[in-house]
Amino acid sequence: MQTKLLIGGEFVDALDGATIDVLDPHDGSLLAQVAEAKEADIDRAVVAATEAKAGWRRMPAAERGRLLLKLADAIEADAANLALLETRDTGHPLRDTSNLDVPRTAATFRYFGGMADKFQGSVVPVEAGFLDYVTPEPLGVVGQIVPWNFPVMFCSWKMAPALAAGNTIVMKPAELTPMSALRIGELMAEVGFPPGVVNILPGYGATAGQRIVEHPGIAKVSFTGSTAVGKNVARSAADTLKQVHLELGGKGANIVFEDANIAAAVGGTAFGIFHNQGQACIAASRLIIHESVAEEFLERFTALARSIKVGDPKDPTTEMGPLTSTLHRDRVLSYVEKAIEDGGQILTGGKAPDDPALANGCYVEPTVVSVDPSARVACEEVFGPFMTVHTFRTDAEALEIANSVDYGLGGGLWTNNLSRAHATARELRAGMVWINSYKRVNPGSPFGGVGVSGYGREMGFEAMREYTEPKAIWVNIDAQLPPFYPRG
Ligand code: NAD
Repeated sequence: MQTKLLIGGEFVDALDGATIDVLDPHDGSLLAQVAEAKEADIDRAVVAATEAKAGWRRMPAAERGRLLLKLADAIEADAANLALLETRDTGHPLRDTSNLDVPRTAATFRYFGGMADKFQGSVVPVEAGFLDYVTPEPLGVVGQIVPWNFPVMFCSWKMAPALAAGNTIVMKPAELTPMSALRIGELMAEVGFPPGVVNILPGYGATAGQRIVEHPGIAKVSFTGSTAVGKNVARSAADTLKQVHLELGGKGANIVFEDANIAAAVGGTAFGIFHNQGQACIAASRLIIHESVAEEFLERFTALARSIKVGDPKDPTTEMGPLTSTLHRDRVLSYVEKAIEDGGQILTGGKAPDDPALANGCYVEPTVVSVDPSARVACEEVFGPFMTVHTFRTDAEALEIANSVDYGLGGGLWTNNLSRAHATARELRAGMVWINSYKRVNPGSPFGGVGVSGYGREMGFEAMREYTEPKAIWVNIDAQLPPFYPRG
């Protein structure tokens, strides 16, 4: 396991020698002690990224792409190791890290490897005698800050487009889960990324994160995390007029109409809320269901929730692992109390599992709560295996409940009526909508939100635009043009 900071192509200790204890959320044991970056380490990394900037930008785009493609291959070759590392660090079941997180990470680097030499500029049809061409220019050094819920996948979401576009990077993984990002850093060095192009520095938000946001040598900060911290990032970045891209929280509405395929909706909803223990910004955390099918749906759904195999995430048959920290587990469980205070009814779960083998881990049972849509648990992001249930009578009422929160990230709907599907998708206040499915992602499909879920997009061409500025270049190609001052 790599435990040092990656700065300028070298793995080094923090300047003051500080370290972070990284714990295994399954049993609370010490997984690793990782170097803790502080402000001075970030400053060093910005120097390295600045020195690497010109070489990386001038490298032919196809060459940058080739390195990203080689990295994708290296990630696939290292997949078993990376998946286990991610599982031990996050508690995310091995079944998922092996089948989803790591393959998606490789796929994203590969997608942007292919994109590097295909993201092109344009020529503007201006007046005769002039050529006006527009090139997408990299921004320079970009800062990237990620949370702990999908650490390896978010490395690719953030780094791949920024690199393809010709930027260099100072990246801070979350203090709780830095291991896979450091492994990606090792693989980058192995496949030949030049020193300083990517710098990876685990550290705390208030010190290392804040310095990235405030550093005058960083042109843009791309932040994924909570809405509260995102607001602070936007405020702090204003002093240096840094560009800001914010991927924040969510409170996904998942509408089940009376004409839906109930079996498919039950399975899709379970994936939507329980995958990664519900620690997903796009989690299907609010079930909004037609009253005529609520009873049947909930009977099947709670039975499924109770049957989910919760346990050691390293066991390949485990379906739900622990949450990523004890602090977070306690926060999620505190929402059970809030639900009851607000008149909610716990339909299943609502506590840690009884299994003594899991007593030292950060476990919470799959939890379903019937509660008024205005209750705190139905409006605030719980970020755990915790779903609220609300019933409706009319399509308008379903939309009113769905759009009643400040968040607007992902949302889903289940129906066999084509016009109702499109009409509802159009009206949902969200950056992404899934019809008869939930939580699909692809490197080509724009990912991001509206409202307090943030602004800007990861993935696809939108991500390339996030990491470039258009530069318009005017050329006078007609020597016959009359000069403005003929007497000169
Ligand atoms: P968080 O906001 O506490 O931390 C996210 C990252 O920001 C961490 O690396 C942290 O160290 C850093 N940070 C904290 N304070 C900072 C500061 N003052 N300046 C700069 N950086 C700082 O969030 P979290 O608890 O780690 O993650 C969970 C949150 O992330 C949830 O709200 C979730 O919805 C959100 N999230 C959003 C998306 C998305 O794409 N929209 C994806 C995943 C998670």
